[in-house]
Amino acid sequence: MMSTLAQEISDLAVRAGAPDADLTILAEGNAAVLDRENDRFLVKASGVVMGEATAEDWVWVSLSRSVEILDDANKNGRSPALDKALDVLLKDAFTPGGVQKKASIETLVHVVAFHLLESSWSLHTHPTPVVSLAASVNAAEHYSGTVFPDESVICGPIPLYLPYDEPGLSLGLGFYSGAIRYKEQYGMNPRQIILGNHGLCTFGNGKEEALATTQIAVKAARIRLGALTAGGINFIPNSAAQTIAFRPDEIARRALLTGDK
Ligand SMILES: [Zn+2]
Repeated sequence: MMSTLAQEISDLAVRAGAPDADLTILAEGNAAVLDRENDRFLVKASGVVMGEATAEDWVWVSLSRSVEILDDANKNGRSPALDKALDVLLKDAFTPGGVQKKASIETLVHVVAFHLLESSWSLHTHPTPVVSLAASVNAAEHYSGTVFPDESVICGPIPLYLPYDEPGLSLGLGFYSGAIRYKEQYGMNPRQIILGNHGLCTFGNGKEEALATTQIAVKAARIRLGALTAGGINFIPNSAAQTIAFRPDEIARRALLTGDK
């Protein structure tokens, strides 16, 4: 039997929200999946516990209406009118069964992934090791490079670190302009985005890729914390990280590791 997108994303959420994974607790974190043909995406409804998500815990939101709000904010800055437009957009959301529920306040992060980062799956979590680094005094420095080969290959050779923004339009706008700057600077998409004092965002063209990228990012965060207790982080030289990330055999290995068919 073919499973629906709502069932598939529930499976992703239950795995990401498992207590042992330590990626989210209570209603933390969220995920989204794109239905490009119909100009819409499914995102977690506000207040849902990831580890307990079922098909009716997700709501459809219009992609083009979301992008309009982001573009307007990016051009003209945040305003009460745009805050209101976002609130209306998030409330005008319906489960696959047609029940109206409010979409997550962090929805715009996923919109950037779909609109700008050529991804169809997006996962946002608050893993303790990642938030520990993102809440530290030298957070940006800790994410100025990668620390082991699989991080370069799976999470990309250069992480994108963004300073703290208030959840809602500010977070979405900071995420959007940060991703635009990163693409201009490096000519590629960020695969691991660290939100200062907040959490982690990873993406994929399948749910396995989005989850595997999170898992490697968490391992890489633990390695950073270990290296800091052992005298400091020694990053892989940037050129070497880029070389390995773009080697054809490593790209093939990434596809195998992340396991999407
Ligand atoms: Zn969050």
